[in-house]
Amino acid sequence: MARYTGPVCRLCRREGTKLFLKGDRCISGKCALDRRSTAPGQHGAANKKMREYGLQMREKQKTRRYYGVLERQFVNYYEEAARKEGMTGENLICLLERRLDNVVYRMGFAASHKEARQLVLHAHFTLNGKKVNIPSLIVKAGDVIAVKESSRDSVKIKALAEAAASHTAPKWLEVKAEAMTAKVVSLPAREDVDFDFNEQLIVELYSK
Ligand code: SF4
Repeated sequence: MARYTGPVCRLCRREGTKLFLKGDRCISGKCALDRRSTAPGQHGAANKKMREYGLQMREKQKTRRYYGVLERQFVNYYEEAARKEGMTGENLICLLERRLDNVVYRMGFAASHKEARQLVLHAHFTLNGKKVNIPSLIVKAGDVIAVKESSRDSVKIKALAEAAASHTAPKWLEVKAEAMTAKVVSLPAREDVDFDFNEQLIVELYSK
């Protein structure tokens, strides 16, 4: 399935929650969901009661869209999460958190997952000193993510570092915004993820 290129605010309205896909606009008074909370489309305002399958499907879509992951990739993450020890749903969220583009977002260097993905794709970051351009790379404990030397003088990157200095990173990341680096001090735990996912519904969907 191709990457969605339409208006992203529709996705928030479809899921009925803020997915923070537009950076600063999402926390301003211009958020489309704050102004119009009904689902998009002609029958969006109709009060439809969702059945079990609908709820599970919506939760999966919400999670997938929040992290900007394609359907096939998401299934792969689920399968990997199911193979690991522990709760599959929690493993899934923790795996998604460890994607390199999400790490850049959590560092505060990007206002949205989309922007973080672009920065990684344009090879502005290194992982343990090596240039990387794969947003789906999964980081490990002890990994060091840094802005590439040749990108450090860019006006845009300097502005992003300034924004990162006032950003609160999760405790599994040790961010040094002035040095433009972050270290993964531990793997993220489910309680470190500050977003309202009901991962159990996703597990129920894929367990059928
Ligand atoms: Fe979603 Fe952000 Fe658009 Fe609001 S502004 S609807 S949070 S993408």
